[in-house]
Amino acid sequence: MDNFIFQNPVKLLFGKGQVSNLAEELKKYGKNVLVVYGGGSIKKNGVYDDVMNVLKEGGMTVHEFGGVEPNPRLSTAIAAADLCKRADIDVIVAVGGGSVIDCTKLIASAAKYDGNPWDFVIQKATPQEALPFGTVLTLSATSSEMNAGSVITNEETQEKYGWGTPLNYPKFSILDPSYTMSVPRDQTVNGIVDTMSHIFEEYFNESSNTPFQDEMCESALRTLISTGAQVVDQPNDYDLRATMMLAGVWGLNGFLRMGYTGDWGTHDIEHAVSAIYDIPHAGGLSILFPEWMRYTMHLNPQRYAQLAVKAFGVDSTGKTDEETALEGINKLEEFWSSIGAPRKLADFDIDDSKIDLMAEKAAARGPLGNFAKLNKEDVVKILTNSL
Ligand code: NAP
Ligand code: FE
Repeated sequence: MDNFIFQNPVKLLFGKGQVSNLAEELKKYGKNVLVVYGGGSIKKNGVYDDVMNVLKEGGMTVHEFGGVEPNPRLSTAIAAADLCKRADIDVIVAVGGGSVIDCTKLIASAAKYDGNPWDFVIQKATPQEALPFGTVLTLSATSSEMNAGSVITNEETQEKYGWGTPLNYPKFSILDPSYTMSVPRDQTVNGIVDTMSHIFEEYFNESSNTPFQDEMCESALRTLISTGAQVVDQPNDYDLRATMMLAGVWGLNGFLRMGYTGDWGTHDIEHAVSAIYDIPHAGGLSILFPEWMRYTMHLNPQRYAQLAVKAFGVDSTGKTDEETALEGINKLEEFWSSIGAPRKLADFDIDDSKIDLMAEKAAARGPLGNFAKLNKEDVVKILTNSL
C-alpha cells in the first residue's frame, strides 16, 4: 500500500427534507446567492420550488442561472461567472446532477479570475481563490457532490477534460434520495454505470496487496448490481434510491482510493468520445469499459479473475484465470445490457470515421491510465473493438 494523505472537507446532509437546512448553510458565506441549475428538470419535479422557498424564508437575495447543459460547456461557465461578478455574488448553490455541479466548480473559480477559465482546465493556471458553493444533488452518478473534480467541454476546440483543485470541494451537499425519484430510466442506468465505472477505475491499480480496499470495491459493486437491477423498475422506492445515492457518493469521494492510484484511462477515452459526439458520459463508459477490460486483461489475469468471482459470482472451479476473467467481463456486459445500457458505438450512430481524431484527443496529454498506460494506437484498437 502506498503512503497517502487524505482529507475530504465536504459536509453531507443526507435524507428526506434536508433542503430545509439550505439557507442556514449558505448564510455562513453571505446572503447574495446564485442558484445554478440545468435544463429545467428541477422546475418539473418540485425541487426548484423547495429551494426557492427555503431561500426566501431564509431572507437570502436570490439570483438564478439556468441552462447548464449535460456535458457542461466552457462558454456557459464563463457567462455564469460574469453574472457572479456583475451581481457581486457571495455564494453559489448548484442544484442538479454532475453537469451542474461540475460547471459550478468552474464558475466559482472563474468568478475570481480575469483570464479565460479554460486555463484552469488545461492546467495553464491554478485558481488562487474561488467563491464558496454548496450543492443540492438530483441525480446519483458522479460523486461530484463530494469531490474536487470537474469535467468541462470546450465546444470550440471539441475538447473535454477533467480538472480539480482543493478549491473545487463543495462546502456542503444536500442529498435527498426522494429528489432522484424523477430521474428517468436511461439516466438512472447512466448513474449505475458511471458509479460502477468509478469503482473499476480505482480497482485496477498497480498495488498488489490491498485486501481491505479490494473488499470495499467488490462489495460496493455487488450492492450496485443488486440494487441497480431493482431501482430501474422501482424508481419511487426511497430505500433503493437512498442506497444508489450513497453508493454514488462513495464511488468517487476518495474513500476507495486510499493507498493506491487508480487507472482512469477509460474515463479519458470516454471524454474524447463525448467531446466530439456529445453523448452521455455513462453511455460511452458502458460501451468502452468491457472493451478496455478485454484489451488489458493480459496485464493481470489474476486480478480480473478475482473481480469476476467476488463481484460477479463467477465459479472459477477448474478454470484458468483468463477463462474466469473473461466470464466476469461477459457478466458485466450482460448486466449493463439487461438494464438497458448501450453496448456499441453504433447505438449512438458513431462509425469509424473519427476514430483517429478521438484517439489523438484522448492521448493528447500523454499515455492514458496508470494500470494499463495506453498510447494512441491502443486507443484506436479499443475504439475499433467498440464499434
Ligand atoms: P447530468 O448531465 O448532470 O444530467 C443528465 C440529465 O439528467 C440532464 O438532462 C438533467 O436534466 C437530468 N436530471 C438530473 N436530475 C434529474 C431529476 N431529478 N429528474 C429528472 N431529470 C434529472 O448527469 P450526470 O451523470 O450526473 O453528470 C454527467 C457529467 O458529469 C458529465 O459531463 C461527466 O463527464 C461528468 N462527470 C464528473 C465526475 C466528477 O467527479 N466531477 C465524474 C464522472 C462524470 P436538467 O439539465 O434539466 O436538470
Ligand atoms: Fe464518471
